[in-house]
Amino acid sequence: MPNTVLFDDGTHRNVLLEDFGLGGLAIQANQHLIIHGGAAMILDPGGHKVYSKVLTQTLAIIGKAKLHYIFLSHQDPDIVAAVNGWLMTTDAEAYVSQLWIRFVPHFGIDHLVADRLKPIPDEGMFFKLDGASLVALPAHFLHSEGNFQLYDPVSKILYSGDLGASLGAKYSAVSDFDAHLPYMEGFHRRYMGSNKVMKAWADMVRGLDIEIIAPQHGAYFQGKDMVGRFIDWCANLQCGVDLICPKFRIPTA
Ligand code: FE
Repeated sequence: MPNTVLFDDGTHRNVLLEDFGLGGLAIQANQHLIIHGGAAMILDPGGHKVYSKVLTQTLAIIGKAKLHYIFLSHQDPDIVAAVNGWLMTTDAEAYVSQLWIRFVPHFGIDHLVADRLKPIPDEGMFFKLDGASLVALPAHFLHSEGNFQLYDPVSKILYSGDLGASLGAKYSAVSDFDAHLPYMEGFHRRYMGSNKVMKAWADMVRGLDIEIIAPQHGAYFQGKDMVGRFIDWCANLQCGVDLICPKFRIPTA
């Protein structure tokens, strides 16, 4: 799959990097770039298996622009494991929830770059990208306890991290929502916190103008109709503690 340009108005570009197709054990993961004028951001760059390929592609795509930010939606290894490499080879600052700021260094953060790992406050924050404004939206418990999504008002793309993730579908854009459900249902029922938090998220994002919802795994949702269907589906899903409770059982031999 080649790189997919999700938006390009000449000044502002949003690029989904090609699937580096790890196959085998490692889960498929998407990497996204946002370039505005002379500044760029990479979202959830991934782990060591893809690091050199993603870095090479990133530098080729951003050209003369400079990588300013590494956005980490949460603390999982498929997102942050190679962050030390990114900090060592670029001048970018990496941002992750304040909840994970002392956990991520366990992946190995060289003391020379440690001050460029920065916290995102619980309520979210804005990033300035050469004049463009991007917003980190709180999406805690979807699925991580300290979890953020990124909304880009120029391209109208909501980068949703693990929310919307699908596993095993052979296409990059969802064209049939109902046919897509089996690829994401099991993941969301277990990995997402609860229906209560799904509803809170749905209420928040319904206030945004969204053309694309782009998750970190699998296919993206394009167009108002598809975006609306996904948000409605989330708002009604029983998941996480809704299903795990009310009781655990001690395993029998
Ligand atoms: Fe995750």
